Amino acid sequence: MPTVDTVRGPVEVSDLGRTLMHEHVFVLSTEHLQNYGDGRWWDEEARVADAVAKLTALHATGITTIVDPTVWGLGRYLPRIQRIAGQVGLNIIVATGLYVYEELPHQYTYRGPGLLLDMPEPMVADFTRDIVEGIGGTGVKAAFLKCCVEAQGLTPGVERIARAVARTHAETGAPITVHTSGPAESGRLAIDLFGKEGVDLTKVVVGHAGDSNNVDYLMELADTGAILGMDRFGLDLFNPTADRVRTIATLADRGYADRMVLSHDANCFIDYFGAAHDEARAAVASNWHYEYIGDEVLPALREAGVSEAQLEQMLVHNPRRYFSRGTP
Ligand SMILES: [Zn+2]
Repeated sequence: MPTVDTVRGPVEVSDLGRTLMHEHVFVLSTEHLQNYGDGRWWDEEARVADAVAKLTALHATGITTIVDPTVWGLGRYLPRIQRIAGQVGLNIIVATGLYVYEELPHQYTYRGPGLLLDMPEPMVADFTRDIVEGIGGTGVKAAFLKCCVEAQGLTPGVERIARAVARTHAETGAPITVHTSGPAESGRLAIDLFGKEGVDLTKVVVGHAGDSNNVDYLMELADTGAILGMDRFGLDLFNPTADRVRTIATLADRGYADRMVLSHDANCFIDYFGAAHDEARAAVASNWHYEYIGDEVLPALREAGVSEAQLEQMLVHNPRRYFSRGTP
C-alpha cells in the first residue's frame, strides 16, 4: 500500500480518511512576525495552544487529514507545526514550493542556468531536498508541490517557478497544487504549461477553481484529468456559498465528482487581523473557519442532489488517489 509523508511520518494513503485538501495552520510573513509580532499580536505559546484546540475540534467532526500548502511566501516554519502535530489526532501533510504572484524572491533572481551565478536551477534542488530529505533539518518531508498562477498570468518569475515545480514533479513524482484566479481563469495557463512540461495532469489540483461558476471553464480543466480545488468555502466575498454549492452539484451531475476536492483555505491565525484575531476575522468573513464545510456545506450539497457516494469521492477517494504514487 502506498504511503504519504505527513508531519508525524509516513501514513498509508488508505488511512488518510476524510481529507480537506487546502487548509493552512498559519499564514504569516516571517519577517512581519519577527519584527512586529512579539508583545503586540503574537504569543507563541498561545498561538500553538489555539491551533491545537481548533484542529482537535476539526478532528472531532470526522476530518482525519488536512493538506497544508503553506510554503515560502506564507511563513512556512516546520518546528512550530511539529509541536502542533504532536498534540492533535489528525494528519497534517505539508508542501514545498513558492507562493508569489509576480516576481521571484531575490535569492533566485541571479542564481540559475545562464544567470550571474550560473548553476542548475536552484529551485529544483531546494524543492527536491524538501521532498527527499526533509525540510530545514526537521526530517519532515513535503508530500506535494505548490506554486501560483494568479491574474497577472505567467510573468517571468511565475513561469520559472512553475517550470521548476513541473521538473521536480517529474523527478520525484510529488503531486502539484497550483493557486489560480477563478475570475481570471488562470488555471488554463497553469494546465497548459504543466501539460507542455509533461506533468501528469491527474496529479494537479487547480487551487481556487471553485471561485469560478463558469462550468464550461471548469469542465475544460477537468477534462484534462486535473482536479478542481473547490477549496475556499467560507470566503463568500470571492464567491457566495450558494453559488459554490450549485456549481459543484452541476459538475457532480455531469459526472465530475472524481475531479473535485473540498476545502476552506482557512487557518488558525493569519497576520492580517491583529491580536483579537478571531473576532476581527469573523467581522470580515464569518464563515471562514475549518468547520464550515461539515456544519453547512455538506448539508447544502446533499440538499442540492449530491449523493453520499459523491461526497465520499471528493473527501476520501480523490485525495487518496492524488497522494498515491510509486517511486518514479
Ligand atoms: Zn491557501
